[in-house]
Amino acid sequence: MINIEAILNEIQEEIQPYLYQGNIANYIPALAKVNPDQFAMSIILFDGSSYNIGCCDTKFSIQSISKVFTFTKSLNIYSKELYKRVGKEPSGNPFNSLVQLEYEKGIPRNPFINAGAIVVTDTLLSHYKSKDNTFDNVLNFIKNISDNQNISFDKEVCESEYEHGFRNLALANLMKSFGNIDNCVEDVVKTYFKNCSIAMSTKELARAMLFLANHGVDPITNHQYITSSQAKRVNSVMLTCGHYDASGEFAFHVGLPGKSGVGGGIVAVVPKIMSIAVFSPRLNSWGNSLAGTKALELFTTKSGLSIF
Ligand code: GLU
Repeated sequence: MINIEAILNEIQEEIQPYLYQGNIANYIPALAKVNPDQFAMSIILFDGSSYNIGCCDTKFSIQSISKVFTFTKSLNIYSKELYKRVGKEPSGNPFNSLVQLEYEKGIPRNPFINAGAIVVTDTLLSHYKSKDNTFDNVLNFIKNISDNQNISFDKEVCESEYEHGFRNLALANLMKSFGNIDNCVEDVVKTYFKNCSIAMSTKELARAMLFLANHGVDPITNHQYITSSQAKRVNSVMLTCGHYDASGEFAFHVGLPGKSGVGGGIVAVVPKIMSIAVFSPRLNSWGNSLAGTKALELFTTKSGLSIF
């Protein structure tokens, strides 16, 4: 068995020069207030043993990592029907692009670009009826998969994003014009922002992802959240679409299904073995954590644990 502790200690040292490269997301003003030089990495195995370096208890805005959880929930409710409204192909476009959506008639390429996650939120809103009930169900799901009731959202980030969320509102309005949003645009986008503003630490995120490393069954509690076929789909879409137009880049360097968020977090799974979360707020030009991506690349290189 590999020595995870030794590998993490090496990563802790080798990652230092990367911590000062890249830029923090500032299009959501509340996110720009975060200390940019932070770093954390957490790994959890199926027996619950966990390995951590850096500020692994610091909560940060999970942003687009929430898209993994909302896609999982909606897929569980609607099954294949969901793909009538959102695709499963990489977009090759930035996360908030409007162009493709126009010529593809309001059907977003996948659930991990903003437009896709907004449609997924709309499906959840139709199922759970109200904004509050939808968010409560998303948050409860995250609490359950994390086996942790102490998870909440950051009101300041949520409000800050809404005040500056013109592009996401534009995406939602464009999709509404094509008939692909059923509920009130404002309710959908507000719920989407609230999902994005959920705050978690790398320790909590690694724990939350464990069921996806194990065919949809939490290996610690043995609770089945989704079928193994659904878990396969969520992991596949993470591999091909989890890092926007840098998804190929991430697969090439890291070789694991993963999902990033502009808050600086990235989650990844090593199927049948472990789940991993990293955090470092400075982003590369595609909007993915620069040091976080590098740390994952170092990990799969040193451990030999990629899916390939
Ligand atoms: N809430 C962010 C947005 O919609 C999520 C983007 C991301 O994390 O990549 O712009």
